[in-house]
Amino acid sequence: MTSIVVLGSTNMDLVAFVSRAPARGETVTGREFRTIPGGKGANQAVAAAHAGGDVSMIGAVGNDEFGVRLRATLEASGVETDLLRTVEGPSGTAHIVVDDEGGNAIVVVPGANGTVSSLDHGDEALIANAGALLLQLELPLSVVVEGAVTARRLGVRTVLTPAPAQQLPAELLAATDLLVPNEHEAAALTGVADPRSAATALLAQVPEVVITLGAAGALYAARDTEPFTVPAPRVRAVDTTAAGDTFVGALAVALGEGRPVREAMAWASTAAALSVQREGASSSMPYRSEIDAAHGPLSGQEVDAV
Ligand code: ADP
Repeated sequence: MTSIVVLGSTNMDLVAFVSRAPARGETVTGREFRTIPGGKGANQAVAAAHAGGDVSMIGAVGNDEFGVRLRATLEASGVETDLLRTVEGPSGTAHIVVDDEGGNAIVVVPGANGTVSSLDHGDEALIANAGALLLQLELPLSVVVEGAVTARRLGVRTVLTPAPAQQLPAELLAATDLLVPNEHEAAALTGVADPRSAATALLAQVPEVVITLGAAGALYAARDTEPFTVPAPRVRAVDTTAAGDTFVGALAVALGEGRPVREAMAWASTAAALSVQREGASSSMPYRSEIDAAHGPLSGQEVDAV
């Protein structure tokens, strides 16, 4: 089974649904409130585990009730949490207001995520035995860089989702094998709006790029090959939260099994399309049997990587 380590965030999303978001100083009455386990790291871990990966998570939750629930959610999805620290203080939270037009405003408080400042020997040993390390930018940048550099040194493939968008240190890009921005992040990183041109610009810094394009699919680009786009299945989207994380988790599993990149991308697109047809983040992420039923199965046998 593909072994994947995620070095990333866990957050409890605190979501208030309102007809209209309040202006500064105003109070409005909301319609509904939900607490939804999230965080880009945890979302990618759950997505990869549902897609059939053998997944471990490195990060931190707080010693509060959210921390208990965040860990339990990961474990219920089959994610190994031995190296997920529990630290003094609150878990990470995302305070989200969603209005009737589907618009949102979000405050993220890193909480425990902000305490993950370095890796220890146990983390390194876990990464050493992994097929891939998945990284995002919701932990302190210093530990993201350390994770990527460590994985590179150990010969482990690194997959970076550069979200939330920010300028990346050269050291991080130099240790990244596959960069997976969405089109907005790709534009923010390069200053170039056109995804093909942005991908070309990014190839100066990393060997492989996948830019996700929402309902338009995903673009693959690598040095010395023609870029190509894999279309997304046409579906009725009800909630696109964590679509990108579902895509990355499934992609990492398929690539880890040695599938050709075009097939891996199509399979990951199917996983993401299934997730957008359901509400929620981790709860919307499809299981391997569902992805296989919609796409056709990956054999699970390793093939020569392209
Ligand atoms: P993010 O969630 O990070 O903003 P995208 O919006 O690009 O990323 O979505 C990631 C992937 O999810 C896309 O490449 C696509 O495969 C899938 N996806 C997103 N929105 C839709 C949609 N409306 N219909 C089908 N697939 C979608």
